[in-house]
Parts: sequence; C-alpha cells; structure tokens
Amino acid sequence: MQPVPEAIHGGGTVSIQAIPDLGCRFIQWTGDLVSFGSNPAFSLQLFISISATAVFHRDQPCRDANTADPLMNMAILLSRNNGISGGTYGNGRGRMHYGIDLASSVGTPIYALFDGIVEQAVDWYDQNVEWINYESQYSDYGESCYNAGNRVRIKSTINSEVIYVKYMHMDQVNILQGQLITAGALIGTVGSTGSACSPRSNGPHLHLEVLINGYNAQLNAVNPESFLFTKFDYFGKITRSCINN
Ligand SMILES: [Zn+2]
Repeated sequence: MQPVPEAIHGGGTVSIQAIPDLGCRFIQWTGDLVSFGSNPAFSLQLFISISATAVFHRDQPCRDANTADPLMNMAILLSRNNGISGGTYGNGRGRMHYGIDLASSVGTPIYALFDGIVEQAVDWYDQNVEWINYESQYSDYGESCYNAGNRVRIKSTINSEVIYVKYMHMDQVNILQGQLITAGALIGTVGSTGSACSPRSNGPHLHLEVLINGYNAQLNAVNPESFLFTKFDYFGKITRSCINN
C-alpha cells in the first residue's frame, strides 16, 4: 500500500493515488482527505500541510469450518465445445482429470482453503531450474506445456483426516516451502503456466486438487467440490461475491 505523504511543504499541486496490494480494495480516505471519500486518485492544490490515511480492506473468499473457496468469484472452466463444465472432476478430455479447473483471469488472487503447512511451492520465475525446455507457441513463459506449472501443495488436517490441497498453473507463488498458512491467506495468483498453456486448455485457470491421506493423484484424489463453499450449477458457474467479511 502506498501511504499518503504525511506532510507536503511549500504548497503546489499534488497528485495522490491509493494503490492497494493484491487482494485488497481501497475503501476511503480519512483525515484531511476525508472529503475525497472513496475516490482513490485525484489532484489537489496544497497550501498547508495535510495528514491523511488511506483505508484498505482485504477481501476474504467464502468459507465455513470445513469448506472454503480459493477464489473470490468461482466458476468452472467451460469446455471449448459445448460451453458446459469442461473443468469438472473426472471429466475425460482424453484422460482422467484429478481436480477441477476454476476459470479466472491471470493475476486473480488465490487464497488457501485451510490452515496448513506448505509442503511444496514451485515458482519457475524465481528458480534457476533446468526444466524440460519445451517451447510452445501457446506459452507466454517458454516452459513445458506438460506440467503443473507454478504450483503449491499445502498439508492440512480436517476432521482428523490429513488433506492435501494442490494449486496448479499459477502465475505468481507468494509463499515458501515450510511456511505455516492460515485459511484465507493469499498464496499466489491464477495463471496459465504448465499445461494450461496448451491448446487443449480453454484459458487461464486454477487447477485445484484435494487428496486424502496421501498426495498421489491416482490413489488419493477426491472431488474438490465437496470441500468448496460455493456449489456449481449445471453450467459450472456461480458468481458469488464474498466481500461481506
Ligand atoms: Zn485441471
């Protein structure tokens, strides 16, 4: 967040803008700028020193004790062909799909479903790793279109069961391996890394997997929809704004 200069001496015209961190919203000005209300950017003539504060709010996605949403607005990635739930669990597309694909634009904040410990946090941007250099015309990142891309795996305990949640194809990863995470924490952003950059993908999305008592997708994956607060309709889409908490 960018604070308002506490004091500007000498007078003159100044431009002021409140810039929220990822996942935050600007709410209002207080102090000497209170009359500018919810206008985040403006210029004004200054003749005296002023003191003001920009108030921000960090939105939290929907959740209760055992279900939670990783995005503020939830939608299943639609299929290319019929526009209906292309990203559901088990959905064929030539092979088993061990998670669900949640459509959103690149840069959309992703929040941790549950309290837990970060077991894996891979960010190709930050690592000097020799990965399979399969350059694809569909990849903005020049990385393999056959992997999970930037990804996170968090281990949690829910109802005395060990639950692993995997977040894949992320743009940015904002957490580190070994870090303790609180439910609702910002862990990164939606992207198109890994196989999400392939022509089979229908746009940027979060591939979300939930696994019980192990993190081998073939053995342990379950349908993540039962762990989500938001339920999807036939068209795979419900948009719910959760800005009330
Ligand atoms: Zn997927």
